[in-house]
Amino acid sequence: MALSIGIVGLPNVGKSTLFKTLTKKQVLIANYPFATIDPSVGVVLVPDERVDKLWEFSKSALPVSATQKALQAGKKIYATVGFVDIAGLVKGAAEGEGLGNKFLSHIREVDAVLYVLRAFKNADIINTQQEVNPLKEKEILDVELILKDLETVNKRVESLAGDVRAAKNPSTSLMARDAIKEMDVLKKAKEFLSQQKVLVEQEFTEDESEILKSFQLLTFKPRLYLLNGKPKEVSQETLDALKVYNKNDGRQNGGIFENYIILDIGTEYEAESLSIQERIELGLPELSGTDMLIKKSYELLGLQTFLTTGEDETRAWTIHKGDTAPNAGAAIHSDFEQKFVKAEVIFWEDLIKAGSYTKAREMGLIRTEGKEYVVKDGDVIEFKHG
Ligand code: GDP
Repeated sequence: MALSIGIVGLPNVGKSTLFKTLTKKQVLIANYPFATIDPSVGVVLVPDERVDKLWEFSKSALPVSATQKALQAGKKIYATVGFVDIAGLVKGAAEGEGLGNKFLSHIREVDAVLYVLRAFKNADIINTQQEVNPLKEKEILDVELILKDLETVNKRVESLAGDVRAAKNPSTSLMARDAIKEMDVLKKAKEFLSQQKVLVEQEFTEDESEILKSFQLLTFKPRLYLLNGKPKEVSQETLDALKVYNKNDGRQNGGIFENYIILDIGTEYEAESLSIQERIELGLPELSGTDMLIKKSYELLGLQTFLTTGEDETRAWTIHKGDTAPNAGAAIHSDFEQKFVKAEVIFWEDLIKAGSYTKAREMGLIRTEGKEYVVKDGDVIEFKHG
């Protein structure tokens, strides 16, 4: 499953620095607007101690080379998330200001959007805004994305009009009836967008959401807000307002998911090259801020991990929460879903505690599960197929 997250933000808020920290790749950073013209993609490993521990447990072979390790080939394979640096979103972008329409289309392809909002107050760094105000920045970005969505919705409404007229005919086909349903959802979305409301913050039924998702609307994508600054630079008022914005975004964990993160990107950038040991010695948390961001993105998308382990390979597989054992099998090979017979399942920590597969089996910790089994985060699975 290839996941991608688009990074958006006004110029000079720290997007390039974040991207560089995330990917540890060199991208152009400069203290002026429109520094980064081409959107770049960086594939990032999802840090996962379960992979590390199971890999040691199974004495999986060492990665063949450092390069392969970086590409998560070799024998220890982490899940990945792709970050797309979408540069230079400015006021008026939807009408072609700045880099305009061209790059907005890149956001269409991502699974989620990360808003980078400036909270740091360093006066040396040119701010395209009058003052540091993350909420105002969010609004500017929202307006551009809303305008783009309106354009998409209007186009779709126009092209559907004929189908809807046909559907009024008594011999209405199933397809035409779908057209009516689609039109209703589009009108509802249009109403919100016309009131400058972001779709992800509005209430839609499950059916409506399914239809909306198919249009890849920019304001309907799951989103995270990254406040670039130190915790003391972010006011409670800002956080409270973002919480209000988040309140209706009930699609993740019943709305309790806190989809913002305060991160001092400047410091993270400098700390990124430190090892875990060095982080501990300096009193920094073991997980870097960007690691936390990656994990949070993963959570945002309603994803979870199951694991496979053996001497040859230990690997994290990405699936959706609620996926059954055959769905999980399909992550490994499309055949596994059809040919699924049963799965042998054990929670990763239980396996490590047992000391070996044989012992775990003796202790009755390995369960045999059928087609209906809903996979849990951290399950180690062995599939049996016909
Ligand atoms: P972009 O235009 O959004 O990609 O912004 P950049 O990443 O190029 O950052 C613009 C400038 O702000 C650079 O000089 C960065 O070094 C600086 N910068 C980025 N993040 C921080 C931060 O957290 N604190 C401070 N003080 N400066 C930062």
